[in-house]
Amino acid sequence: MSNTYDVVVIGGGPAGYVAAIRAAQNGLKAACIDAWKNYDGTYAFGGTCLNAGCIPSKALLESSELYHRTQGEFAQHGIQLEGVSFDLGTMQSRKAGITRQLTSGIEALFKSNGVTGLKGHGRFLGNGKVEFTAHGGQPEVLESKTVVLASGSSPVELKQVPFDGEHIVDSWGALEFDGVPPRLGIVGGGVIGLELGSVWRRLGSQVTVLEAMPDFLAVADRAVAKEAQRHFKKLGLDIRLGARVQGAEKTPDGIKLAYEDAKGPQSIDVDRVVVAVGRRPYTDDLFGPEAGVKMDERGFIVVDHECRTNVPNVWAVGDCVRGPMLAHKASEEGVMVADLIAGKYGEVNYNVIPSVIYTAPEIAWVGQTEEQVKAAGVAYKTGSFGFAANGRAKALEAAMGFVKIISAEEDDEILGVHIVGPMAGELIGEAVLAMEFSASTEDIQRTIHSHPSLSEVVHEASLAVDKRALHGINRK
Ligand code: FAD
Ligand code: NAD
Repeated sequence: MSNTYDVVVIGGGPAGYVAAIRAAQNGLKAACIDAWKNYDGTYAFGGTCLNAGCIPSKALLESSELYHRTQGEFAQHGIQLEGVSFDLGTMQSRKAGITRQLTSGIEALFKSNGVTGLKGHGRFLGNGKVEFTAHGGQPEVLESKTVVLASGSSPVELKQVPFDGEHIVDSWGALEFDGVPPRLGIVGGGVIGLELGSVWRRLGSQVTVLEAMPDFLAVADRAVAKEAQRHFKKLGLDIRLGARVQGAEKTPDGIKLAYEDAKGPQSIDVDRVVVAVGRRPYTDDLFGPEAGVKMDERGFIVVDHECRTNVPNVWAVGDCVRGPMLAHKASEEGVMVADLIAGKYGEVNYNVIPSVIYTAPEIAWVGQTEEQVKAAGVAYKTGSFGFAANGRAKALEAAMGFVKIISAEEDDEILGVHIVGPMAGELIGEAVLAMEFSASTEDIQRTIHSHPSLSEVVHEASLAVDKRALHGINRK
């Protein structure tokens, strides 16, 4: 095997493996180096997303939601269930099976596209040179015309609540629990806190979420956050806002988590703690002394809008660069860079990156919140429509939440779409496509939506923007 490439990608997560595949599709000789090691000692491509993030969390969210629905919803359908129980071991092995299928799928994709997959550590040395050390092997030097850095991110550790791998864990640890913790403390009420809090609550844990910010889900549109908070409360998540964690103490009974809120010092006793207070770019041992790649003060690799670093022919994509830490953003940057390297057109529209929280109800949005539009001083109009009057949502026993659309007063262009409700993560696709094409509210109004479907709520919300909803009251 020749050690000379057109593109060497360091990192095999959604940013890196996609960049390598697209580079090969573009006729370039590409290699992808990845160091990921699973708890069971196996090495796998796919990075955080496939091995310890998006995919395993969604597998457990689905299993736990199905179980939860047996605890009341089936009776609504007239289906009597007795003695329903679950086997966590089976849930966990189903999850591991899905992950394995998808990560080995990447190897198959590499093979069919002609990408050289290299399992081991990569280090950019500078001057088109990358050091590759296979697991258990000796370092060798690869030469490449271009290098793509896609080293991802790692969980932020709180010094006052350090991980111990057993009682105090990160999100990966919380996806691997082999028993349901009777009392679970979660530090951080963001995306991970809400998704994993939902999983373990549905399976029986008493879950307390300690969130430092005074507002619930501060990144979301306020109306959506308020509606979602109501449903999380109904599920039994005990979400404490403005709670600043001070420390964790091991007790004979578990862990005492001390925190401070507006009322003063407080504490909770729990069996296990998940710390989910964000992630930071991971670039440990990524560079040799001559690399010369510029980093910012928060540890992100500095890139321009097309993901070029300061070093010619070196690019960086995904969680290790600015922007939301999302798998689809990472992959689209990988595609853009691989196309630009091949001399083709490439672009990422950072204004229309969807966000989805896979709780029940799901939360999804794209574009600006009403608060952001207001702060920007743009004249706008909004329309909201609930799932309560939607036939499909009622049939699904999921008639909760709403769709909210924000459009510019001046030319009707859609500025933001916010959904809390059933299948919000799927419904948001229509809004993303509409915004990608700079659609107006009228474009959605004039688009036929199938009946009965959840998407009719998006249609009605677009009509509500102009106070013309057909199946609801239009408040002037
Ligand atoms: P990563 O996926 O982190 O991949 C980087 C890879 O590079 C890793 O395999 C790492 O081992 C490897 N690497 C690093 N340095 C080197 C080196 N020097 N040599 C060789 N290899 C190296 N996002 C979503 O969009 N939707 C979701 O539903 C979602 N759910 C999530 C749930 C959880 C619990 C977590 C933690 C994250 C979730 N995310 C989700 C975020 C998503 O996982 C990340 O945004 C995404 O994985 C970023 O992709 P990446 O390729 O940039 O980095
Ligand atoms: P996050 O940024 O979503 O939430 C972290 C939360 O912790 C914030 O609400 C923050 O205010 C709070 N916090 C920070 N310091 C704290 C402290 N000392 N005490 C209490 N609370 C504190 O981060 P996350 O939930 O860890 O997720 C990390 C990344 O992974 C996110 O960027 C997210 O995009 C990605 N992710 C995405 C999905 C998805 O797309 N469905 C799912 C999981 C993770």
